Amino acid sequence: MSMGITRLSHFIGGQDIAPASGAYLPVFEPATGQAYAEVPDGDERDVARAVKAAREAFPAWSQMPAAERSRMLIDIADRIDRRVEEFAQAESRDQGKPVALARSLEIPRAATNFRFFATAILHDSQECFATDARAINYVLRAPRGVAGCIAPWNLPLYLFSWKIAPALATGNTVVGKPSELTPFTAWMLGEVCREAKLPAGVLNIVHGLGAKVGAAVVAHPDVPTISFTGGTATGAAIASVAAPMFKKISLELGGKNATIVCQDADLDRSMSTIVRSAFQNQGEICLSGSRILVHRSRLKEFSERFVDEVRSLKVSDPQLPDCDLGAIVSRQHLEKIQSYVALAKIEGGKIAWGGGRPRGLHPRCKEGWFHEPTVIVGLAPDCRTATEEIFGPVASIHGYDTHGEAIQIANGTRYGLACSIWTRDLERAHKMAAKIDAGVVWVNTWMLRDLRTPFGGMKASGVGREGGDEALRFFTEAKNVCVGL
Ligand code: NDP
Repeated sequence: MSMGITRLSHFIGGQDIAPASGAYLPVFEPATGQAYAEVPDGDERDVARAVKAAREAFPAWSQMPAAERSRMLIDIADRIDRRVEEFAQAESRDQGKPVALARSLEIPRAATNFRFFATAILHDSQECFATDARAINYVLRAPRGVAGCIAPWNLPLYLFSWKIAPALATGNTVVGKPSELTPFTAWMLGEVCREAKLPAGVLNIVHGLGAKVGAAVVAHPDVPTISFTGGTATGAAIASVAAPMFKKISLELGGKNATIVCQDADLDRSMSTIVRSAFQNQGEICLSGSRILVHRSRLKEFSERFVDEVRSLKVSDPQLPDCDLGAIVSRQHLEKIQSYVALAKIEGGKIAWGGGRPRGLHPRCKEGWFHEPTVIVGLAPDCRTATEEIFGPVASIHGYDTHGEAIQIANGTRYGLACSIWTRDLERAHKMAAKIDAGVVWVNTWMLRDLRTPFGGMKASGVGREGGDEALRFFTEAKNVCVGL
């Protein structure tokens, strides 16, 4: 280990554990392009050890009164809240996102995830069905055992905790795997769990590559439940292993979400949110509104105002308080984004703003991975740039003539995660929302989340739903007991 490099460890059975391989992978700070930490290069031996610890912890954890489990999870939430600044700094350094975004939104949301499910289990009720005068049926819901929770790099602690919290609250034990690109706050979560005196083995965190650690979690016969958020191709690979083993799987996958701007949209009120929906977190959000469909009567006006607003976004060192867009998570991902901008030109698009590396970055960031917020016009709505997920700060604007056409374009990708509709006519909004193939449709807002609502995607955006009762049900097994009268 070189000077100044933090060495992370697995969190298994309540202990910091070195990888069985003895090998580590570098963790880079995207804003500088420099390695600043090392993460275990885990493998199936570490996963086997974590699953064993989780299995051993399961009987006591699952039988613990809900109020006691709830108290511990709330304690974890409180400890994250108390260390919000430290978590936010770590998340920003690890992922490249503006520290202000991590501080104001993502880390608080991670704490909220724990608190939400910790309190949900205090208030849930069981179903009972009277079958005429012949029988009474009731439903028991029991935790399923060890849950495998695999999370991506874009919202690291936010999405990791979104899976872990309901799994633990319902009495499962967990083997979690964060992305090896952004392992730091998951490692800190291990510390928090130890301080909160979470019993050893209840939550285990194994670091490393998806192809080794993630695949070993999915293939392990003693992990009957898999909750995954990540890319569609990875989701398909996971399903192909898990389905023949009859595992219960939840897959939250990619998106290419439409923003539909109707002719009566109130641009004064909505423009800043529409811009944010395209570029928040450098566009690295599965819910990003990256294909903007505008009624042709407003196309020119919208495009000009949109570009004006994008022009004022500040791409900078994510540590700076006025940073709007930080760094891209990895060199490889930056190259993917650049390749799509090049493809857009080949497909006939015109770069209305951005397209390259921002100028005037702080010297600290000279080797960092940055990309300007980029607006592309003139593309056919069915071309690759407009239908494939870029997952970066690239948005395309397209005109449409009728609402039917807008719906057709919105539904014209393999994805079906989210959509936003901007209109003053609520009757039209309800009609359009019913016809959009997406797991969530926002009207005159974006990314406003009530954690009780079902969250997930249609088509290639996923299988199953997270959030609220959906998550509580996913992590439990229902049993019908029928008592004859
Ligand atoms: P990946 O699918 O590459 O990875 C997600 C996680 O799965 C990582 O921890 C990864 O490890 C792991 N993994 C990779 N291969 C396997 C495997 N064979 N078996 C088990 N686990 C594996 O996604 P990204 O991390 O690149 O995240 C970006 C993607 O996530 C985008 O497509 C985005 O749309 C989607 N996403 C979806 C959301 C939703 O709610 N629908 C929310 C946020 C993101 P490693 O990092 O080592 O590859």
